[in-house]
Amino acid sequence: MRILVVEDEEAIADIIATKLRREKYEVDTSFDGEDGLYNAMTNIYDLIILDIMLPKMNGIEILKELKENNINAKIIILTAKSGLDDKLKGFDTGANDYVTKPFHIEELIARVNVQLRAKGNKIEKDILEYSDLSLNIRTSTLTCLETSESITIPYREFLLLEYFMNNREQIISKEQIYDKVWGIDSDYESNNLEAYLSFLRKKLKVIGSKVNIKAVRNLGYKMEG
Ligand code: CA
Repeated sequence: MRILVVEDEEAIADIIATKLRREKYEVDTSFDGEDGLYNAMTNIYDLIILDIMLPKMNGIEILKELKENNINAKIIILTAKSGLDDKLKGFDTGANDYVTKPFHIEELIARVNVQLRAKGNKIEKDILEYSDLSLNIRTSTLTCLETSESITIPYREFLLLEYFMNNREQIISKEQIYDKVWGIDSDYESNNLEAYLSFLRKKLKVIGSKVNIKAVRNLGYKMEG
């Protein structure tokens, strides 16, 4: 899952990003409001952590723009203790939660997890399930429930697999996969999506799963099982 952190205090943004990456999230950062809006409008994020007091454009304005453009990321706003008005405005404009500054990083991470792991209802206790597959997102262990065989999935393949499992039985375009798994600034050519997909298909076979990732001609890929 991919998160955008919009926070002009770069040291704070870095701490948040580092911590989230340790939790296996993909993270991008923006240090001012305009860049934050630009990134958020790509609609590739599952969640956006949005500071209110930002140079160039404030968080409330960004929030309004996002809602008007049907950007469906969950939003957690960061606000100063005195900024109660901001919070209320934030909820009016559609924020999902807020965290008051100064905050404990663990508190923020917990709020993020609540927002994202509540989403699919399929995820309980860090386990993502589809068909005969069970993916432990803490340990990156993939288990086939039919055969009880397990295998550890390397980082990039893990991101791919997680994305497919969250969008099972839907056609996903190459562009969506690149944006989601490699990030918006990535170099498409060098990513070698096909290679990563074949590694993943092999692992699915090795553990005896009936799940497959099929190519859908001219459209993209689809996970079925
Ligand atoms: Ca700020």
